[in-house]
Amino acid sequence: VVVGSGIAGPIIAKNVAKAGYSVLLIDKKPAIGSPKQCAEGISVKVFKEYGIPYDRRFINREIYGAKLYSPSGYELELRYKEVSGVILERKVFDKMLAYYAAKAGADVLARTEAQDVIRKDGRIAGIRAKHEDELVEIYADIIVAADGVESTIARKAGINTYAPPHEFDSSYEYEMLIEGFDPDLIHLWFGNEVAPRGYVWVFPKDEDRANVGIGIASDHPQTAKYYLDKWLREKGIPTRKILEVNVGVVPVGGFVRELAKGNVVVVGDAARQVNPMHGGGMAEAMEAGTIASKWIVKALEEDNISLLQNYTREWWETDGKRLERILKVRRVTEKLTDEDLDLFIRVLRGADAEKIASGNYFEVIKALIKNPKVMMSPRRIKLLKELL
Ligand SMILES: Cc1cc2nc3c(=O)[nH]c(=O)nc-3n(C[C@H](O)[C@H](O)[C@H](O)COP(=O)(O)OP(=O)(O)OC[C@H]3O[C@@H](n4cnc5c(N)ncnc54)[C@H](O)[C@@H]3O)c2cc1C
Repeated sequence: VVVGSGIAGPIIAKNVAKAGYSVLLIDKKPAIGSPKQCAEGISVKVFKEYGIPYDRRFINREIYGAKLYSPSGYELELRYKEVSGVILERKVFDKMLAYYAAKAGADVLARTEAQDVIRKDGRIAGIRAKHEDELVEIYADIIVAADGVESTIARKAGINTYAPPHEFDSSYEYEMLIEGFDPDLIHLWFGNEVAPRGYVWVFPKDEDRANVGIGIASDHPQTAKYYLDKWLREKGIPTRKILEVNVGVVPVGGFVRELAKGNVVVVGDAARQVNPMHGGGMAEAMEAGTIASKWIVKALEEDNISLLQNYTREWWETDGKRLERILKVRRVTEKLTDEDLDLFIRVLRGADAEKIASGNYFEVIKALIKNPKVMMSPRRIKLLKELL
């Protein structure tokens, strides 16, 4: 049984069903995918990598790069010739992922909320759930907790998912009409007065419609809404055409160490498998879901639950390692002053934009080291050393 039909859940349900095993995918939402809690941006690479059809029904807009804005207004444009990402329609995307799982043979039940695990003979035998208004017991050999940031089922199964508040971002987002921003790029604003530890984003869904949101450290005394409304006011952007309001929490660290315990597997936001720099977690959920499904299928084939431990090992050796490196960068960048951020964007304007856009942090460090202003500051040199 797979609890949660966001991104990770349906990918696992599809892969396990395809291998010929019986799977039930459940979600508490009456309509899978709705409401969304997402800015909906994702790299175009994931479609090929995870065998997801490039279907116009859930692709709102193709994106060619990003524009970054420093606190004092310096700009850095990273533009590709080709499409680099897309802004999805998650309400359709999530539902289609569940549809692909159902077509592969999985059973899918919306409006079914897992409430607890069933313990029998010292092991977890299934889950208790509320389906419509009825309490049901679902027995299963393997239980997958793909239930998002709240991570109820993993916790109930005794997996330690605790992370301190500092390892989460609070976010607030309007889907609204907005003009004056190049709709072929995503736009990101940085600054300690703009978004403490985070950024404001404009992710275009149309020429004049976008997800306009903010993420800030969740232990900050002010709310994310306060900073987003302040930014909109200061930019003189009218807020009379708001189509949706989304509130959410994003894990930006605190990756769960033990990803499988007995016959329970935790994946995606529930396991904090999110990029700690930008808070994007869809691609990470797809990757973890793919690794987890491989070992679920092997465990079922060989009738050996202990093989699930290989999911923990493989994830930590691959994507876990990458995300830990990014977490280290996040811990350094959160110490940057507005002056640092200004300098950072200015220096990077002369660097290889293509390499930086593809996440080459070495290129960033190279550009910084070349700049005398960076080298003259012992504090900045100390921060750079923390990165190396
Ligand atoms: C405001 C905001 C903006 C974001 N923007 C981006 C972005 O632009 N790009 C990006 O890559 N990532 C973004 N993210 C992160 C991204 O949304 C998540 O990382 C991603 O959805 C994780 O997928 P998942 O499958 O782990 O969990 P989810 O997509 O959260 O799915 C979990 C599912 O479990 C269900 N569920 C929960 N509890 C139960 C239960 N007890 N019983 C049954 N069902 C249950 C929920 O209804 C949900 O459908 C954003 C997040 C937020 C909050």
